[in-house]
Amino acid sequence: MVLGYRTKSESVHLDFGAWYHSGLELYDKLRAQGKDHEEALDLVVAGALEWTWIRDVEKAGPWTTDNSNKTRETLIRTLIWYIDHFKDDPAQTVILADGKPAVELSFKLELDWGPGSKMTHLDNGKPTEVLPSRSMQPYILCGHLDRVVNFTGGTYVMDRKTSSSTIASNYFDQYDPDNQMSLYTLAAKVIYQTPVKGVIIDAAQIAVGFSRFSRGFTHRTDAQIEEWLTDCKSWFALAEQYATAGYYPMNDKSCHKYGGCPFRKVCSKDPAVRQKFLESDFYQKQWNPLVPR
Ligand code: SF4
Repeated sequence: MVLGYRTKSESVHLDFGAWYHSGLELYDKLRAQGKDHEEALDLVVAGALEWTWIRDVEKAGPWTTDNSNKTRETLIRTLIWYIDHFKDDPAQTVILADGKPAVELSFKLELDWGPGSKMTHLDNGKPTEVLPSRSMQPYILCGHLDRVVNFTGGTYVMDRKTSSSTIASNYFDQYDPDNQMSLYTLAAKVIYQTPVKGVIIDAAQIAVGFSRFSRGFTHRTDAQIEEWLTDCKSWFALAEQYATAGYYPMNDKSCHKYGGCPFRKVCSKDPAVRQKFLESDFYQKQWNPLVPR
């Protein structure tokens, strides 16, 4: 993250994900503007065809990939099938005070503590108080909400995921506890000053011959969000310690989790040759999360 290294195969997933979200954002906005289902769907398909037509002089033509699950065809098919699947969805987009639909919202939350803050600890080690120093630069929590919806009398963030694996009954367990979903719940609560129950996760399994959809829920109470923020203080203090020392120790209990870290073939090499492997299999592109999408 510090140096911005990414795997070369990652760009297919990033492009596919960006267009998938753009298509659903367009549909939600058109429906909120009063367009009917068919009209909005036609415009989404037209948009997706346009976005995936590459206009570079050297490789002009339809977007092509070497990933059989993520192609121009599976993208457009998944958009059409998702939109048809949730055509009569009881989850309705929240309309903001300015009349705009709550779709694709970038957020930034400034905390009242940051690097240089001092923490006091009770006997159990839990950080309990933060004393800002004069030079404190507050941390900013930032991110992006796909959509905020009203669903059966409650307000939820909606997050859309894509996966090439089967979405089994325990798929949604991975989101509780989960850092991203806790942050999204907090952000929506702060921004809308309204009780938010948690996150609705719409997962799309995308295979060569089919796309399948499942919906799951993850809930957070106020006390859980409070606890999550307290824990952030501990993790950020640790990150500050590594940044100040300029040394990031290997977290080698995490290398094989979540399908395997893509940097394993670098970290498993002798330190003297790692840079060579980084340069041959990865590229650098800094990601600035403060830039709104
Ligand atoms: S391979 Fe392991 S040690 Fe290396 S970056 Fe990934 S998780 Fe960390």
